[in-house]
Amino acid sequence: MVDIRSVHKSFGALQVLNGIDLQVRAGEVTVVLGPSGSGKSTLLRTINHLEKVDRGRISVDGALVGYRRAGNRLYELPEREVLRRRTRIGFVFQNFHLFPHLTVVENVIEAPVSALKRPRKEAVESAHRLLERVGLADKATAYPRQLSGGQQQRVAIARALALEPRLLLFDEPTSALDPELVGEVLDVIRDLAGQGTTMIVVTHEIAFAREVADTVVFMADGRIVEQGPPGEVLERPRHERTRAFLSKVL
Ligand code: ATP
Ligand code: MG
Repeated sequence: MVDIRSVHKSFGALQVLNGIDLQVRAGEVTVVLGPSGSGKSTLLRTINHLEKVDRGRISVDGALVGYRRAGNRLYELPEREVLRRRTRIGFVFQNFHLFPHLTVVENVIEAPVSALKRPRKEAVESAHRLLERVGLADKATAYPRQLSGGQQQRVAIARALALEPRLLLFDEPTSALDPELVGEVLDVIRDLAGQGTTMIVVTHEIAFAREVADTVVFMADGRIVEQGPPGEVLERPRHERTRAFLSKVL
């Protein structure tokens, strides 16, 4: 489903991704861990071409991200096509990024109506189903500022799901939340995992990773230090760097 090959990315002199290779199979959950500045967010952003890679290739569902192949040459895709493909990948951010001037239901239908040209009535019906799924059926007409952080994040997840994405990317979805609100968001993500949604989740919630991840990836300095099933990477890490990190977050 996701195939990342030898991806390099720098910002000026700073090498942020230094040869990343990662494969994610359909229906699997990959949890990415690593210290601040190790390149986790940048890696997620390259997957939907919010950041262009300097070297290497990424494909999602068999299609190259950001490029089109013709013979053995690559051509950059026009912006419109990049945007169209981006709608097939859901992205949930740490700080929710809801539209403050739109109600909950309007937030959820915004992209389906404007980007996918879905009829509004149909989009509203499906938004109500999604809000039910994340436990917010009664908040459809509320504004984001009237919701708790956990509720806002669940709206953000419903909004990502409204595009029926093939892949969901989460960048520290619970790290801006008060501790008592973390569980309700993780519950929603856990349900999605149970339904076979393909996901890449950057999080420091180790207990969640242990329970839900098929693969845990530990990154440091723009490299994948180790990856494998949670029972290996979390319980029997092979690298000192991983052990040091885990001893801090556990
Ligand atoms: P955190 O856990 O703090 O979120 P991270 O692993 O997500 O960290 P990234 O956000 O990917 O790390 O950043 C990796 C490095 O790249 C950092 O040193 C960061 O300052 C730098 N960086 C990220 N985005 C940019 C940018 N647009 N321009 C310049 N430097 C950037
Ligand atoms: Mg980050």
